[in-house]
Amino acid sequence: MSHDNCLFCKIATKVIPATFLLEDEHACAFRDLNPMAPTHVLVIPKKHHVNIDDAADDALAVSCVMRMARDVARAEGLKDSGYRLVMNSGSDAGQSVFHWHVHVLGGRQLGWPPG
Ligand code: AMP
Repeated sequence: MSHDNCLFCKIATKVIPATFLLEDEHACAFRDLNPMAPTHVLVIPKKHHVNIDDAADDALAVSCVMRMARDVARAEGLKDSGYRLVMNSGSDAGQSVFHWHVHVLGGRQLGWPPG
């Protein structure tokens, strides 16, 4: 189900353009507009969930998104060097788009702890 005022619903339905890497019935993956690493891809469910707090009960969406995140990392050649999956949930975490997404980050040494 698409939400009228949701940016990522509009990307999933191709109303707003993005650079897609992978897509299936339940999820899609596209490059972040403001990349923080050589690979910075967002993986989203096509069904609208606000964040992981909302999505966690939807086992199909969670499994499809996480598998696609793994497939993006493999396609970007990150399996051996490593990569990080990030999901920000709510204001303290800095979530800025309220459609659940997983950031796939890699291609450089990533610092820890995050800011
Ligand atoms: P978050 O802050 O965790 O909610 O992540 C939202 C991400 O969406 C940020 O990394 C933004 O750079 C990214 N973003 C915002 N608008 C777009 C867009 N039109 N296409 C691709 N990525 C976007």
